[in-house]
Amino acid sequence: MRYIETELIKEKVQETLVKINFEFDEGYIKVLENAFMREEAALGKEVLKDLLENAKIALNEKIPICQDTGMVNVYIELGQDVTLKGRPLHEAVNEAVKGAYKENYLRPSIVEDPISRKNTGDNTPAIIHFELVSGEKVTIFILAKGGGSEQICHVGMLSPHQGIEGVKEFVLSVVKEAGPNPCPPVILGVGIGGNFDYVAYLAKKALLRSWGERHPDPFYADIELELISRINELGLGPGGLGGKFYVLDVRVATYPTHIAQLPVAVAFNCNAFRIGKIEI
Ligand code: SF4
Repeated sequence: MRYIETELIKEKVQETLVKINFEFDEGYIKVLENAFMREEAALGKEVLKDLLENAKIALNEKIPICQDTGMVNVYIELGQDVTLKGRPLHEAVNEAVKGAYKENYLRPSIVEDPISRKNTGDNTPAIIHFELVSGEKVTIFILAKGGGSEQICHVGMLSPHQGIEGVKEFVLSVVKEAGPNPCPPVILGVGIGGNFDYVAYLAKKALLRSWGERHPDPFYADIELELISRINELGLGPGGLGGKFYVLDVRVATYPTHIAQLPVAVAFNCNAFRIGKIEI
């Protein structure tokens, strides 16, 4: 049994949130640079150039990557041989969000009630998912996810007879409808299977995968590559202004489902791809 203080988790989450709001990870910068080199459309190339320039300014001048500093999504994989000490974990995480956003003047974007819409003032609460795993480690993924790209995410309950072709058509129709709204270039998470609520979780969690990592099943790995090509062939391009690079990656996650169901979800992440990973 390993003991971990939730105060340590709070410190790491706060530190990571500050970092990802001002600094893209190296892998993502390389992907953006590669797209910039290969984009042929003038406006699309200009958008990619501006995004790279924006990333440099954010890092050097400590200005947030985007004015929309996102809603904080946290995925905690808690080893079942870990005993947590101190305040409850969800409290520690929200305290970290509060500290990171208030101390660094990051825009608070959360309203405490979806109808009366009074801002909570500190970007809390985060959306926190817990998963028990084996071992004595805590792994935390953090996504500061912009409102524009979240707003355009979709869940579809397809009929099983629609099969994989139906899934591909669904993803393409969602992308066509989205157009420039999710601030492209985007990264797409696609969930297939599970049920109505779980498929959305799958799609969004797929966004957390590393660059270059494909679905372990070659069938779905091929679907990812096919979707990247077919989406980019639509010519929507960076910023939706035309070009080859609307989507930078498609990441599929799958799960068993009911014989009567074929749930599909599409999660967009905008160009402000603010993602962090903590291992304790
Ligand atoms: S969707 Fe993303 S890029 Fe667009 S405004 Fe929001 S955070 Fe910024």
